[in-house]
Amino acid sequence: MSAERVLDIVVSPMEAAAPELVRQAAAEEAGLAPAAIRGIRVLRRSIDARAREPRIRLRVMISMTGGLEEPLPPLPTLPDVHRAPMVAIVGCGPAGLFAALESIRAGIRPVIIERGKDVRERRRDLAAINRHGLVDRDSNYCFGEGGAGTYSDGKLFTRSHKRGDVQRVLRDLVAFGAPSDILVDAHPHIGTNKLPGIIVSMRQAIRSAGGEVHFGSRVCDLLTAGGRVRGLRTANGEEVLADHVVLATGHSARDIFQLLHDRGITVLRKPFAMGVRIEHPQAVIDRIQYHCDVRDPYLPPASYSLVQQVDGLGVHSFCMCPGGIIAPCATAPDEVVTNGWSPSKRNNPFANSGVVVQSSTPPSDGDPLGGVHEQRELEHAAWIAGGRDQCAPAQRMEDFITGRISADLPPCSYPPGIVPHALHELLPPPIAMRLREGLVAFGRKMRGYRTNEAVLVAVESRTSSPVRIPRDPDTLMHPRLQGLYPCGEGAGYAGGIVSAAMDGQRVAHRIALTMQRS
Ligand SMILES: Cc1cc2nc3c(=O)[nH]c(=O)nc-3n(C[C@H](O)[C@H](O)[C@H](O)COP(=O)(O)OP(=O)(O)OC[C@H]3O[C@@H](n4cnc5c(N)ncnc54)[C@H](O)[C@@H]3O)c2cc1C
Repeated sequence: MSAERVLDIVVSPMEAAAPELVRQAAAEEAGLAPAAIRGIRVLRRSIDARAREPRIRLRVMISMTGGLEEPLPPLPTLPDVHRAPMVAIVGCGPAGLFAALESIRAGIRPVIIERGKDVRERRRDLAAINRHGLVDRDSNYCFGEGGAGTYSDGKLFTRSHKRGDVQRVLRDLVAFGAPSDILVDAHPHIGTNKLPGIIVSMRQAIRSAGGEVHFGSRVCDLLTAGGRVRGLRTANGEEVLADHVVLATGHSARDIFQLLHDRGITVLRKPFAMGVRIEHPQAVIDRIQYHCDVRDPYLPPASYSLVQQVDGLGVHSFCMCPGGIIAPCATAPDEVVTNGWSPSKRNNPFANSGVVVQSSTPPSDGDPLGGVHEQRELEHAAWIAGGRDQCAPAQRMEDFITGRISADLPPCSYPPGIVPHALHELLPPPIAMRLREGLVAFGRKMRGYRTNEAVLVAVESRTSSPVRIPRDPDTLMHPRLQGLYPCGEGAGYAGGIVSAAMDGQRVAHRIALTMQRS
């Protein structure tokens, strides 16, 4: 008999938290005495909440000969690239950071140019938005070190397995300080409190290897000659010369979309989704999902994922944050934009999620920046409706469905505050109608979800990029500008932290190959 076996076991939440009880359950499944198991390692962990009593499904490896403890991934030893050929990377989000790490591994020196501040300085600007409604155009929830992913929930679940090696990204995150649970959890997440430290470790590793990271440097133009990129210019007037430029500026870099369009460097309109954030008391979601009055303390705050087709377009929940906070994510002072985050323990009393309507396929001959204009108009309307600061217009769920302004609003986590407004009138009719129908359907799928205890907060408009920056599928360069590599979420090749990170890796690989051949 082999000395190691992989088993699937199902245990209670309390048993899952006690290694001895997991060993007992594994021994029972294997038909062995517990003492015969000399080592055990959890490979996969998920919650099965379909039954009346939620259970934990574990895939474990057992060993009858010795320990199976896997050492934590060590900090990557990166080669010295001080004198290596250089790549300029615009944007220090997950795509830019992972492109930089992968470049170093391939013997290339990355120079990251980031418009925002480092995570520490950035924190002050977030406090200014939360407390005083003041939005800095270069340092906010979307812009700054770590990009839009820094002060997020840090959910790492992705369906983009074909785009790269998810485990490799997760192992790097663990090496830089993320909890090792993310390697086994079916729906891993890190939490806002832990992400900044991980990002600082990455920056230090990049600099130690010989890479550069520049903050407070907003790229405002590209240097080009003969159909090739030759470098970039920052708003401070500095020029960075580079034959390879990775453009990883995220979905909110509207000035970059405009710059490319103005310079005749093709950008294409792409479908995206807009809607609202919805917030329930977490206890309501726990009750529905776990079929209980009070959540078992061994279970995490419950989440949900809902989707419904309404009149030919999808309405879906997006970026659900159990135990979370609704975040003010505007990148300009005259707009209101929401998203959500949660700390690693997810221990706030609210559960928030985007509920958004997918846009229809845009006409190919329309304005490529049409989606950006739609976003901007709605975000500006929300800003006016909220009182021209970062207060957000809001409406109780049932009031939205039945089309009346809420007489009062329930407590809400959104730090700048909310004010009652007729969101059914604020939102464009095709979105408002589908949201209403979608919410009614969600209420049927999850009994108790449809409740006037829940509040809708407008608007959720930055679910993904409204623009695709084309690239050649082989060289990954822009077809109109050799040496320019559109990358990550802003360019339309990722949707979330992990897929953006994988796209950064992919682009770095391709640049290494191109450099080797030239
Ligand atoms: C509050 C919030 C919560 C989120 N929660 C999750 C989550 O739980 N899980 C998940 O997978 N995703 C989440 N997301 C989405 C996720 O953050 C993004 O998908 C991801 O960060 C995209 O990575 P990126 O590197 O492509 O772009 P970004 O992270 O947007 O990074 C782009 C960077 O480029 C910089 N930049 C822009 N323009 C310029 C310029 N002109 N010059 C120089 N620098 C520039 C920006 O400052 C920014 O740092 C969340 C987003 C937000 C805002």
